[in-house]
Amino acid sequence: MINLMSDTVTKPTAGMLQAMFAAEVGDDVFREDPTVNRLESKVATLFGKQSALYCPSGTMSNQLAIKTHTQPMDEMICEESSHVFQYENGGYAFHSGIAVNLLQGRFGKITAAQVEAAIKPEYDWLPRTRLVVLENTGNKAGGSYYTLPEIDPITALCQRRKLKLHLDGARIFNALVETGESTTEVGKRFDSISVCLSKGLGAPVGSVLVGDADFIQKARRLRKAFGGGMRQAGYLAAAGLYALENHIPLLKKDNEHAKQIGRLLAKLPMVENIRPIQTNIVIFDVKSPFTGAQFLEKLLTKGIKGSLFGVQTVRFVFHLDVTPKMVAQLVTIFEDFT
Ligand SMILES: *Cc1c(COP(=O)(O)O)cnc(C)c1O
Repeated sequence: MINLMSDTVTKPTAGMLQAMFAAEVGDDVFREDPTVNRLESKVATLFGKQSALYCPSGTMSNQLAIKTHTQPMDEMICEESSHVFQYENGGYAFHSGIAVNLLQGRFGKITAAQVEAAIKPEYDWLPRTRLVVLENTGNKAGGSYYTLPEIDPITALCQRRKLKLHLDGARIFNALVETGESTTEVGKRFDSISVCLSKGLGAPVGSVLVGDADFIQKARRLRKAFGGGMRQAGYLAAAGLYALENHIPLLKKDNEHAKQIGRLLAKLPMVENIRPIQTNIVIFDVKSPFTGAQFLEKLLTKGIKGSLFGVQTVRFVFHLDVTPKMVAQLVTIFEDFT
């Protein structure tokens, strides 16, 4: 089976398992887990931030950021395809009691002009615009990324208008291996960043939230209230550390595999509207009268798993466990696919 459902399906490598076995652990709720402490300090340093917080999931780290940055009756601005709006069960409303102001971007990306036009004036009857969330890379947007010069005007606007700027950087490294930009430069442009270790980086569990010390201290208290205070979490953090130390350069290969298969898909008569492939995600539409579900069913008989992203829409995600040999198999299958 070639599993392209998501880059969350990766399983720990032998080296990662060894690192997990060997981890030194303690009770992280008392901040006595040396491996969690090492992971937090590594990611904070990487992004040039004061502090970091290890979380069980990227959903939790995003939700903690939203809650830490806002008060009930505030509003967050984000793109309509963004994970914080689409895939977190409306957590912004549930946990934080805030409203959302959705912008329609271009391939998931919004501009400072759009954000500025969306900021609400201060009236007693309007939610207060307090937070902007960007996603890099954009998941539902097909893996598109913002470059630093694209982010700059948004950062400047947020500073001028006193809005907090959070980055859902679930796949930030998939973008950085393409642009060659540095993590510290990314860090300078955001108040907080959430990074997933369990996507293409290949750790089984975990995300890290970074920000200034005061922000992370508040988020840490909220994490406990969310039920996310873990005890000997060092066994899991060790996998995250191993991923950061060993797997970042490998993401480049995932991005290339996505582009290679995308070029073949573009030639298939039943495929249309492939979103520009910038990183490890391929999103495309299946031409009617076929549906996405039928396309996926047919793929399954050939040993390929993808995911349904709309009635006509299919997503493939390339990751650590998709080997060059599997890609060669995919090439053979898609060169001759009817
Ligand atoms: C996967 C993902 C998350 C968080 O996912 P979890 O499954 O909760 O770890 C957040 N944002 C984006 C863009 C994602 O793709």
